Amino acid sequence: MSIKENYQKIRREIPEHVTLVVAAKTRTKEEILELIAAGAADIGENYVQEAQQVYSALGNEAKKLRWHMIGHLQTNKINKVLSIFDVIQTVDSYKKAQAIDKRAEAAGRNIVPVYIEINIGSEFSKEGIKPEEHKPFEEYMLKLVEDMSKLKHLRVEGLMTMGPRSGNPEDSRPYFRQTRNLFDMLKELHLPNVNMKTLSMGMSNSYKIAIEEGSNMVRLGTIVFGERKYC
Ligand SMILES: *Cc1c(COP(=O)(O)O)cnc(C)c1O
Repeated sequence: MSIKENYQKIRREIPEHVTLVVAAKTRTKEEILELIAAGAADIGENYVQEAQQVYSALGNEAKKLRWHMIGHLQTNKINKVLSIFDVIQTVDSYKKAQAIDKRAEAAGRNIVPVYIEINIGSEFSKEGIKPEEHKPFEEYMLKLVEDMSKLKHLRVEGLMTMGPRSGNPEDSRPYFRQTRNLFDMLKELHLPNVNMKTLSMGMSNSYKIAIEEGSNMVRLGTIVFGERKYC
């Protein structure tokens, strides 16, 4: 099947309230143009340099998409991130939130929507905040969100998680559920300058389970484009 057919089939299959972010790392301008023609509105990129290349190659077409930063956020690249990405899904410390806040205005951004990345399985090799390292975790998160809510040029709008890497997507279910519970807890606080509306979880092998567990944003690459050649 073509990229267009894949995209449209998945779009039809998932509930309307679930945003589909297409994870486009390693994909070409041509592949992304096909995606735009298929009606895609949200794109995710992991690497700043790669995103810059595709973004400029796409010209005006790039502006039809909402760009989501889904890769590791490096403080020294925040200016570049702010020049491309509409949403930053990978904020994993107050320090990085502060760095975004400090640079946003100069980058012509009034308020930058951000999600907090949770490494819900506390896996060693991955980015994101690890619950094992911050106990009690709910209190830690509450304090973090409160602190972030005081920053003028960003707004917390959600949580993002990868879930543990595992062959069996069913193994991710309890982790997705934990993230959902954390999300609900933070949402119900109705903190000022926080709009906890997006729960970004689920990839090609796990998105159905993630949606069952309350995800309202999935990030899909392989299932839309086919297997990646590298990365
Ligand atoms: C690559 C990637 C995805 C998509 O993964 P697939 O298995 O190709 O669907 C989702 N989220 C992040 C953060 C990624 O890096």
